[in-house]
Amino acid sequence: MGTLPSRWHALLLIVYMAMNIAYTLVLDYSRQNKYSVAAELRGRSGVLAVCNMIALVILAGRNNPLIGWLQISFDTYNLLHRWMGRMVVLEALVHTSCWAYVQHADTGFSGVYHKLANDPFCSYGMVGTVAFVLILLTSPSPIRHAFYETFLNLHIIFAAVAIAGVWKPYIRAVAALWICDRIIRLGRLIYCNYSTRGWTTASIEAMPGDACRVTMHLPTELAVKPGSHAYLRFANLNFWESHPFSIAWVAHRPVFSPDLPLMEKKLTLEGQTTDISFVIHAQTGLTRRLFNAAKVCAPRTLRLKAAFEGPYGGHHSLDSYGHAVLFAGSSGITHQIPYVKHLIQGFSDGTIATKKVLLVWIIRDVDHLEWVRPWMDEILRMQGRRDILNIKLFVTKPKNPREISSPSSTVQMLPGRPNINLLLQTEVRDQVGAMCVTVCGPGALQDSVREAVREVQDVSVVDFIEESFTW
Ligand SMILES: Cc1cc2nc3c(=O)[nH]c(=O)nc-3n(C[C@H](O)[C@H](O)[C@H](O)COP(=O)(O)OP(=O)(O)OC[C@H]3O[C@@H](n4cnc5c(N)ncnc54)[C@H](O)[C@@H]3O)c2cc1C
Repeated sequence: MGTLPSRWHALLLIVYMAMNIAYTLVLDYSRQNKYSVAAELRGRSGVLAVCNMIALVILAGRNNPLIGWLQISFDTYNLLHRWMGRMVVLEALVHTSCWAYVQHADTGFSGVYHKLANDPFCSYGMVGTVAFVLILLTSPSPIRHAFYETFLNLHIIFAAVAIAGVWKPYIRAVAALWICDRIIRLGRLIYCNYSTRGWTTASIEAMPGDACRVTMHLPTELAVKPGSHAYLRFANLNFWESHPFSIAWVAHRPVFSPDLPLMEKKLTLEGQTTDISFVIHAQTGLTRRLFNAAKVCAPRTLRLKAAFEGPYGGHHSLDSYGHAVLFAGSSGITHQIPYVKHLIQGFSDGTIATKKVLLVWIIRDVDHLEWVRPWMDEILRMQGRRDILNIKLFVTKPKNPREISSPSSTVQMLPGRPNINLLLQTEVRDQVGAMCVTVCGPGALQDSVREAVREVQDVSVVDFIEESFTW
């Protein structure tokens, strides 16, 4: 059924579904004419399906304005989208069945076939219903996760057919919303990747532990908030596939005029360009092909033409918390690094409330530190870092246990998995102001951190933010 909803999400979904069921089924069943009851059921289910489709399309968009306005993540809207979709399919089936029931009573099966074959209103409606059913059959979680690209492309095709099949005035609004989302995405793609300085290129370095460090060299300047992600495409590696990755590091580079400074001593600053970096862990699809291509090239850096679409997300600010505890599992560190940098910078500038930050990173082996070494080095050299930041690295399966040593009292390296409950209880004992605990990593880690946070929430103010890597 996909990702299990949290308690609050489950409550919201139950209320939503109960309302839909009530609006569809609360009818006057005492009527003598059962066909009139079926006709009313057909009308209600059809209207509700169409109304739900509007929200269904809005919630599926990367540019859904509600994400920014309500500060609710795409992940949550995606959960609602999935359940709303199930409801729309159910309502479309009820609508079509009720129509067929009444039509059959009137004209028999031959009349039903005749209508479907000769009345465009009915035949398009049936095409729409079939497309809805196909969407339902091709989107269960195991299929989605095993064949994501195939699922996505089929989903878009079937959704377009379903929308065309129900071509009513308000459905045109749905189509317009979908087209708007695509146009905004295209506009964003061109804005981020093209300027008179050229097109975006990517530097890709193969790293230990089946990972790549990827830096997108944008020809434009872009502001990126901590906690953002972006969709990447690579030329020669199925350019039409775009995959989401958390933004790990952002660096701006000055661009000087190419003209030689004849009259003045200084070069003329023409603006800035932005380099945006990611750590990509190889799975079985595009990310594996990217890793293999980078490995063949190693020790040289692989250079490819690429495209960046984003930034998306980044609406959680930790600035007002006195105390932040950031958990990262494996490549989930990329989500946390920008927060660490931002919090140290804000602390030393005196612009935020945060006084204490603990970063807990769980990795399999010591050589995975290589993924983020240049950025960590920069963070460790930042002004005020020692006064605010503590780092605990947990190495779960070190090849050589002797490599596990703590470079300083503020940066500790420990073997095995962390005792998350104990860690949080210790932090809460010395809590500074309101605390925020965030986690990014595998599902099991997220569940453990969530559980541990619940246990300390009675003691003091501890908020919890979870960033998941799958949908
Ligand atoms: C917001 C977000 C941030 C992420 N950040 C990172 C990161 O910083 N580093 C990192 O290594 N991974 C990250 N991921 C996961 C990354 O997007 C997937 O691992 C990647 O898309 C897999 O590509 P693949 O073709 O190799 O997948 P496959 O091997 O075909 O599938 C592996 C898994 O990835 C999922 N997946 C495949 N394509 C997509 C897609 N386009 N969108 C969403 N999920 C997909 C599949 O459902 C499956 O569960 C992030 C995911 C999300 C949603």
